Amino acid sequence: MIQSIRGMRDVLPEEGRRWRRIEDRIRDVLVGHAYEEIHLPLLEATELFSRGVGEATDIVEKEMYTLADRDGDSLTLRPEGTAGCVRALIEHGLLFNQTQRVFYAGPMFRYERPQKGRYRQFYQLGAEAFGFPGPDIDAELVLLGYQFWRALGVTDQVRLELNTLGSGQARADYREALVAYLTPLADRLDEDSRRRLTRNPLRILDSKNPETQALLADAPRLPDYVDADGQAHFDGLRRLLDAMEVPYVVNPGLVRGLDYYTHTVFEWITDTIGAQGTVCAGGRYDGLVERLGGRPTPGAGFALGLERVMLLLESAEGAGADSAADVYLCVMDPAHQAWALALAQKLRDALPAFRIRTHAGGGKLKNQMKRADQSGARFAIVVGEDEVARGAPALKHLREDRPQESLTVDALIARLSAAAD
Ligand code: ATP
Ligand code: MG
Repeated sequence: MIQSIRGMRDVLPEEGRRWRRIEDRIRDVLVGHAYEEIHLPLLEATELFSRGVGEATDIVEKEMYTLADRDGDSLTLRPEGTAGCVRALIEHGLLFNQTQRVFYAGPMFRYERPQKGRYRQFYQLGAEAFGFPGPDIDAELVLLGYQFWRALGVTDQVRLELNTLGSGQARADYREALVAYLTPLADRLDEDSRRRLTRNPLRILDSKNPETQALLADAPRLPDYVDADGQAHFDGLRRLLDAMEVPYVVNPGLVRGLDYYTHTVFEWITDTIGAQGTVCAGGRYDGLVERLGGRPTPGAGFALGLERVMLLLESAEGAGADSAADVYLCVMDPAHQAWALALAQKLRDALPAFRIRTHAGGGKLKNQMKRADQSGARFAIVVGEDEVARGAPALKHLREDRPQESLTVDALIARLSAAAD
């Protein structure tokens, strides 16, 4: 039997329903902030990521799905969305003399060790803003996250961590100082950190290794290298978050994995889903557009991991057996199938919030009612000889002990509509 690839999950109907509900709420928040959706290819030139994400990052070093096209070009399944977004906006001239606020949703691919909350294909919703140098847009992006948690009812289960890396220059100076401090201590670092010392030293701050953390206690501190402009930017962001009464903690060890961040970095973290607790992460990347061949343009954004948000909601409210349909329409005789289809269409037009499933495949009414019950629907409608003759379908209440009713189509619509509120 052929099975799915390790780390690539099937989302089956029951989870699919919850997925849709959650994604819709998040999208509503983004659209409510007038962010515009874009759709980008899953495959890009490998060079886009080695340049955009950074050669020395975990993603480019060991997590990419790279393949040769038939003509030998090196292509990579996108491991994240920002680089492709920047590529597209440069390519279509959408960054020159204008600002952009966009979002995207879709699968990303990273060859990682699969575990709870970490997969090889996972789904991100990301937002990016271009052309805004000030902290007002950083605040907007952080607040978008806050609105997601409000819309999903989980504000008390996530916390916000913030940091600033300062300008590109400050980040480079700090990097140099950190390397100078750690190089003589290299043989006491854990293996990953030793490798990062030459490749991506800021990531050492992220190390979970206790001995490495102990060595870092006396290391040069990032906040001491943040320049005056960088500090003013960060203070500006903090003032806006304070005014909006959004709680946060400043975590000077927060650096993020990607190479392109400058100034603000942030993560929304939950403790309720295990070790992979970062549900949404982002920051500012003022150098990225230029690095990918555009004119210097400030940018900032974030990406949210939908599977982790699903786990968060599951832990908050249980998996909950939601129904597959609201109304199940039974047809007693194939001769009435067309009448039933027309009725179903009329109901869908009048009651757009209802999910109406018409029976297919024929069979006895008893078996059709069994299907109706399995669907979880609250109502069954029965169409038979009499009902068609009188133009009055029968309405059965599947979850309440109430007698069956015979209603004209208009009365049926009114009854269902009243039941919805
Ligand atoms: P992590 O530290 O968890 O590896 P990251 O820094 O690699 O995360 P980003 O590249 O910033 O993550 O991606 C943003 C978000 O996408 C993460 O906060 C997480 O919610 C989600 N995410 C990233 N990698 C995965 C994965 N392999 N499986 C599921 N979700 C993921
Ligand atoms: Mg990662």
